Amino acid sequence: MKNLMVLFLILSTLVAVLATEQVSTTSTHPGTMSAVWHRTSGEYVALCHQAYNLATTVLAEKVKKINPKNSNKRPAIVLDIDETVLDNFNYIIEFMASGQKFSVSSWKKWVAKRSTPALAGAKDFLQFADKLNVEIFYISNRADDEVNDTFENLRSLSIPVKKENLLFKSNSSSKDSRRIQVEKNHEILLFVGDNLIDFSSKFDLQSVKQRVNIVNEIRAEFGAKFIIIPNSMYGDWESAIYKYDSKLSTKEKEHLLLRALTN
Ligand SMILES: [Mg+2]
Repeated sequence: MKNLMVLFLILSTLVAVLATEQVSTTSTHPGTMSAVWHRTSGEYVALCHQAYNLATTVLAEKVKKINPKNSNKRPAIVLDIDETVLDNFNYIIEFMASGQKFSVSSWKKWVAKRSTPALAGAKDFLQFADKLNVEIFYISNRADDEVNDTFENLRSLSIPVKKENLLFKSNSSSKDSRRIQVEKNHEILLFVGDNLIDFSSKFDLQSVKQRVNIVNEIRAEFGAKFIIIPNSMYGDWESAIYKYDSKLSTKEKEHLLLRALTN
């Protein structure tokens, strides 16, 4: 309760400050607090390092245990891209500040710049995996026509990447068929993502409650096979609240967000 009161005070102060500075579009955006946290907090950077430090330790142990006689499959890791390897918060904050919503055209312009920075810890981990001779796959719901720009972006950051290992969305948002494709010739040692659907199709289109239930059921996998990066700005945690209905108005969404707090 004390924490809630503090949060209320912070939110009131933030709205008042932003109103005084006449940044009205930012002050009313429901993602303001999340954006501030992602953009400014050492805690977020620490969580990214924590995730990638753990990924490094787990991967090193798993590679050590590989016995080539037991499997003819090559070891591999699978990572999501957005808010897992590449940090798009500047883009998100840009469209929030301008009072606009996400649009495919503004997103494509952002991707085409090929200058998205890497998340803290991502490059070191990926270079480490590459040195261990582990195959790196990126399963992302970026569009197929964004492969070239993404490839050049990652390469400019010295992040190991092969164009043929960029498995982007062609028809389904579910990543299952692409995971199965990788598993044909590879043993996936580790998954890294910021959304539960990056790990298993068990989470695809599940309700808010079911998502939490499944996480509890498979809790042993987190930190062992699944490494999750925090993303409080967007993701299926939010889409689940809207029951995956992308046509809802802002008002309807706000209503469902508030209702989710009391359920
Ligand atoms: Mg992502």
